Amino acid sequence: MTDHTTPDDRQDGTEQTDDRRHGHHATGRIETRAIHAGQPPDEQTGAVMPPIYATSTYVQDAPGQDRGYEYSRTGNPTRTALEANLAALEGGAHGRAFASGMAAINTVLNLLEAGDHVIAGDDVYGGTYRIFREVYEDYDLSFSFVDTTDLGAVEAAVRPETALVWVETPTNPLMRINDIAALAELAHKAGALCAVDNTFATPYLQRPLEHGADIVSHSLTKYLGGHSDVVGGALVTDDADLDERLGFYQNSVGATPDPFACFLVLRGTKTLPVRMDRHCENAQTLAERLAEHPAVDQVYYPGLSSHPGHELAAEQMDAFGGMLSFELAGTLEEASEFVAATEVFALAESLGGVESLIEQPATMTHASIPREERLAAGLTDGLVRASVGTEHVEDLWADIEQALAATLD
Ligand SMILES: *Cc1c(COP(=O)(O)O)cnc(C)c1O
Repeated sequence: MTDHTTPDDRQDGTEQTDDRRHGHHATGRIETRAIHAGQPPDEQTGAVMPPIYATSTYVQDAPGQDRGYEYSRTGNPTRTALEANLAALEGGAHGRAFASGMAAINTVLNLLEAGDHVIAGDDVYGGTYRIFREVYEDYDLSFSFVDTTDLGAVEAAVRPETALVWVETPTNPLMRINDIAALAELAHKAGALCAVDNTFATPYLQRPLEHGADIVSHSLTKYLGGHSDVVGGALVTDDADLDERLGFYQNSVGATPDPFACFLVLRGTKTLPVRMDRHCENAQTLAERLAEHPAVDQVYYPGLSSHPGHELAAEQMDAFGGMLSFELAGTLEEASEFVAATEVFALAESLGGVESLIEQPATMTHASIPREERLAAGLTDGLVRASVGTEHVEDLWADIEQALAATLD
């Protein structure tokens, strides 16, 4: 196996345990790790940026004697840099990078055996729901989708064969907050693993391993890449045995990212802290103003004290993120017109880039859910979801105001 550089031997030399316990501590604060972890200057040339190692194979010094790399599906130095960087950001010992967020999620499911049972939130990412129901049910895994904010409901769903509890927080699009520590404890009591999809929060705002999760999963496509120009995924764990199994499936299945994708994500993670600060600041301001607007019935943003998950979010997260949803007072058609009338906010699915995006879950990201089920889950016709970018907040607000005026007056 490739000798992965762990955060323990990264150049800043800080104690891993200290870093993990104090996300913003001493020399190894997350802003510093984002830029340096996993990527010391290139030994041969002094290049400050990790080279893009565009090679499929590596020369061996003697048969079976390689220099840590033998084939790029198994390991590539640019990928190693990214994996070490991501592990350091999450405060975990081991990182694994994948070709997409779904490939990372698939790898967690590879750990399970026929007959195993999984408990997941009833509002998980659509692609997660699809791979669970439409791929892995055929492999004799079973899934219970429950409201994971209701710990009693989660406990009631536990079976002897429960092997995994899958958690997202904040959730999409209603920004529900799940209690990672309580869910990890429940999972462990049931003899199951707890995996947290940390895509919405990012490690800058929330580090699930600190709260007892076993595996953190990411779509690097979103905030970690940060510029809407790359698709990727990752898993981070603190458990060496678990990491070795994940590495076995990573190499066996082969959904690994190419070195250019790894380079792009590394370029993204350097600015994660500064980007997230602005995303959070802008989203908070817009959420507060939307909550006061007469055309808006409801705002879902964990940074509002009126949000049911606000206190838990304040404990579990360092800030409240760049995603928000709101419910317009009008019809499905008026909400469609509204999202089409914005000019700075681009009408698009996805999230996490520096540019603001806006969409209507009922006709876009959540259109595959039958209307009645959708309404029962709180996804109304007038619901609008925004990925608040890093533009000037007054330009964003002016855009929302003009689009509201154009469609709802
Ligand atoms: C986008 C996303 C995924 C899937 O990631 P891809 O990179 O698109 O494969 C998984 N979970 C969440 C929360 C996401 O937003």
